[in-house]
Amino acid sequence: MSNHLSALSDRELLAALHALRGSERESLLEILRHLNEVERRKLHLKLGYSSMFVYCTEHLCYSESTAARRVQAARCVARFPKVETLLVSGEINLVTLGLVASLLTPQNVDWFLEKIRNKRQREVEAIAAAFRPATYLRDRVLRVSVPAPVTPLSSATTPSLSLSSASTGSATPAESATPATGESANAPANSAEVAAAVPPADDAKGVTPGPLLVNVGSNSHNGSEKTPSPIATVPKLYIQFLADENFMRDYNEACALLSNSLRRISFSTVFTAVLRDYLERHSPKRRQERRDARQAAIETPRSTQPAGAHAGARTDGAQSDRSRVEVAVTPPRRLPISPQTRDAVFLRDQGQCTYVGRDGHRCSETNNLHVDHIKPVARNGKDELENLRLLCSTHNRLEAERILGPDATRRIRERDPTAP
Ligand SMILES: [Zn+2]
Repeated sequence: MSNHLSALSDRELLAALHALRGSERESLLEILRHLNEVERRKLHLKLGYSSMFVYCTEHLCYSESTAARRVQAARCVARFPKVETLLVSGEINLVTLGLVASLLTPQNVDWFLEKIRNKRQREVEAIAAAFRPATYLRDRVLRVSVPAPVTPLSSATTPSLSLSSASTGSATPAESATPATGESANAPANSAEVAAAVPPADDAKGVTPGPLLVNVGSNSHNGSEKTPSPIATVPKLYIQFLADENFMRDYNEACALLSNSLRRISFSTVFTAVLRDYLERHSPKRRQERRDARQAAIETPRSTQPAGAHAGARTDGAQSDRSRVEVAVTPPRRLPISPQTRDAVFLRDQGQCTYVGRDGHRCSETNNLHVDHIKPVARNGKDELENLRLLCSTHNRLEAERILGPDATRRIRERDPTAP
């Protein structure tokens, strides 16, 4: 199979995939029509399933969210046949249709379909929200327990009871830090709200994926034992609050700036980095601690200082402090590009990868951006605005390999381990 595909040219491969995507939509529509006919004949009931949803999950083995979307879309197609054309053309999909399906009436269907054509999920959510206002949602903090990350050396029979999530590879130190204040006013004091595990949100409803908690069920490691062993857990906070589009715009901008310095981008890691940066700058306690550290370094005789201690003290609180948010656009070079030039490149390229594909499509990536030399430094490329551009890490690598050869990534990484 893979041999067959590897023999295709790039153009043939892309054309074949495009054709398959089209036939996938045709197949989907046929499935919706079949589901409607099954429901019309009540075959699912005759087969012993209580609903089309149960028939789809238990008999057709769809996941719950997939089954819900298909059943909903099938009924929508039956009610409003004009939906078919838009589904086949790809102008709407099951997710965007599902967001407005319950709002459609014979009177408004044309207006809604026109509104959601070629719109992204987030845009359709905004359209639907105008007709389905959310009920009052208060800020809240739930104290929850989640399965402890599994350490490679943990015993198969004895669950790891280590509560130090920072000591594992799957959790960053940032995750282990929790806000100290600000939530208690709304935090539930009732222990009944302390959930052991929360099932994943139903993405069929278009809920933006968040820090979902996994319902792990029984501990499969100990299936042979009569008494199930408790699952090792760690305490976490599940935080919920309302925000507006301005907040999201600021958040996304912060994500893009932090994407090179954080191992993993999430609400938790980004908020932790931003809060730390703010506190580092504005907390009187932390400023005083830095003054004390500088004073102590000055008063300590040079001869008793370990090598490098004085230099470290002088830069404490400035760029070198590892706890600070480091907003780096490129890895360090022998001749660093000036901050003014970097900012000029960032503003000119609008904080977006500038790579343009053969069909004229510009890469939309705004994270993991690097200031790239169009003419490489290795070939006397200069740090001038005309020779610089923003590229995302994957296109940066692609361009490096195109210009410097397929081995370029390895050689660049050998020279600079922080390179993408
Ligand atoms: Zn790109």
